[in-house]
Amino acid sequence: MPQAETYTQIDAILQRLLAGGETTPDEGLWLLNLDDDYLPWMMACADRLRKTFRGDEIEVCAISNVRSGNCSENCSFCAQSGHHKTAAPVYNYISEDQLIAQARRAREWGASDFGVVSKGWGVRGKKEHAQLKNYFEAMSQASDIGRCASLGVLDNETAEQLRGYGLENYHHNLETAESFFDNVCTTHTYQENIETIRIARDAGLRVCSGGILGMGESKAQRIELAVTLRNLGVDSVPLNFLNPQPGTPFGHLEPMSPMDILKCIAVFRFMLPKAEIRIAGGRTFLGDMQSMIFMAGASGVMIGDYLTTKGRQVEDDLQMIDALKLKIRGDTQQRREARQATS
Ligand code: SF4
Repeated sequence: MPQAETYTQIDAILQRLLAGGETTPDEGLWLLNLDDDYLPWMMACADRLRKTFRGDEIEVCAISNVRSGNCSENCSFCAQSGHHKTAAPVYNYISEDQLIAQARRAREWGASDFGVVSKGWGVRGKKEHAQLKNYFEAMSQASDIGRCASLGVLDNETAEQLRGYGLENYHHNLETAESFFDNVCTTHTYQENIETIRIARDAGLRVCSGGILGMGESKAQRIELAVTLRNLGVDSVPLNFLNPQPGTPFGHLEPMSPMDILKCIAVFRFMLPKAEIRIAGGRTFLGDMQSMIFMAGASGVMIGDYLTTKGRQVEDDLQMIDALKLKIRGDTQQRREARQATS
């Protein structure tokens, strides 16, 4: 039986956040451990935080996996790692024409940003630089969509060069809590991930960094990740939920339940009240509860396919956003009408 006192305690944290305060790590863990009975109340509070700090608009983004498979890194969740035997496609860089076609389509869908994602430890060698330069210059000329990239670990020189090619945003997930990272990857370090965030920001890039939940980490480690992101001042946080891939070390794990996913989204909103919280991979596990991500405090969503897994039908996502009467940031009347005409 839900206790009135617990609702009052949740509300007290909400009021503190609205006044500019913080949720402590202990409170974050307490929220995460609350019975599902309290989830609707937590979501209502998270929704208020989203509306207060992020407004009425949501952000939509999309990605392209420009080079896939045989990756040097051993991330336990990833089908692209050359350390695991999986059915992930293997290909080298897609052409600029393919990339531009994907970016334009994403812009028509209403996406404000488009991410160029490439496997690997980081950007290495002249050929890779030349390819990335071509991509970002071509994107700048072809579309007003925001130019993002996720290219692994950065050093100062590479970050400056990418900025010079026209890159605007850099995505680099911490993936999980530092105390769990050895279970996830041993070919690069947590410290390199943190340094990459600092370097990207110093080069004038907007940083997007979050993680994947449901990899076997504890609830306390989920809060640890949120606190690390908060301490780093990250204001764009993608949240993924493990989609267990056959052949990977995490292939046997059970996907998170819809209620757990919603609770995590709400608690991340409590921990990071002002951040852009974007829901990405694994949201298919929400099933019928898909549209509740925004009521749980999410302020963004990645549409289209993910790196090695299929996303929802874009038309379904766009209809869901329309039905919720949410506006897409950077969208135009013209684009809305074009979408309606083809739906
Ligand atoms: S997550 Fe990225 S770095 Fe890790 S194995 Fe997959 S492609 Fe490589």
